[in-house]
Amino acid sequence: MRIDLHTHSRVSDGTDSPEELVRAARAVGLDVVALTDHDTAAGWDEAAATAHEIGIELVRGMEISTLHQGRSVHLLGYLPDPTYEPLDRELRHILDGRGQRLPMMVDRLRGLGIAITVDDVLAVSQDAAASGRPHVADALVRQGVVADRDEAFDTLLAAGRPAYVGRYAVALDEAIRLVTAAGGVSVIAHVWGRSRSEHPDEAELAALQEVGLTGLEVDHQDHAPERRERLRGIARDLGLVVTGSSDYHGTGKTQHDLGINTTAPEDYHRLLEAAAAASAASGRETPEVVR
Ligand code: AMP
Ligand code: ZN
Ligand code: FE
Ligand code: FE
Repeated sequence: MRIDLHTHSRVSDGTDSPEELVRAARAVGLDVVALTDHDTAAGWDEAAATAHEIGIELVRGMEISTLHQGRSVHLLGYLPDPTYEPLDRELRHILDGRGQRLPMMVDRLRGLGIAITVDDVLAVSQDAAASGRPHVADALVRQGVVADRDEAFDTLLAAGRPAYVGRYAVALDEAIRLVTAAGGVSVIAHVWGRSRSEHPDEAELAALQEVGLTGLEVDHQDHAPERRERLRGIARDLGLVVTGSSDYHGTGKTQHDLGINTTAPEDYHRLLEAAAAASAASGRETPEVVR
């Protein structure tokens, strides 16, 4: 069984529609795929309809923008009830922050002498419920300012670069509580990704587990082999579920092809069991896994 639990569609910063993404997952031979757009459930219905039609297992998820001790942490929430008001309110707050940041980034770029407008960005982000820096990057590519998203981040958009603007994110422990109360389960995405220091550390992860954290995304392209092994050891010590995923963004990110990392069936089933337990405890009906 091949299971990929982290992908993005055009509803956030991927380049496939949810339907195209689910079809692509099927085409590469995945048995299970999770759609985890940033901060939104807006792609779920389309993805579920396609999954049902073509016969692939679909897990509804989202990747929530959070902060832990001043650092950005991405939290994968699987199978939360998206109509749970406190969660919905938090997601709207985050999406508002994304919307407000867009004109600020455009202003920064214009200040650098780049003739880009908000409309130029909206032209490439029209399908997105969650706009972001990758859309600004795409607009810059269209204008010939940079060759690709990577160059846009490296020269202009990454933290510390001249057009970087921060945005609102929810506290990590609060996000975990909200996902649990909505009947879902939480997994920290690319825990010690690329440039990130090794935080949260083991003690902090243990504290987050107390709050309701269920798993760690260990097998991810942004983790070198040695970091994966250390994270696997921590997960084993603490009894956290281990996941592996592509973090597919269509053509928006290279080295993240569907299925490039996968999750073991035992770990996947533990996640589903934890979601069922959270749902029973909270009384929130969680979205069914399409089978
Ligand atoms: P934002 O959500 O607007 O803060 O932008 C962060 C998103 O940009 C994340 O989902 C990353 O996957 C994506 N990203 C970060 N660096 C790069 C890069 N060098 N090339 C393409 N996408 C990137
Ligand atoms: Zn992304
Ligand atoms: Fe992420
Ligand atoms: Fe992601």
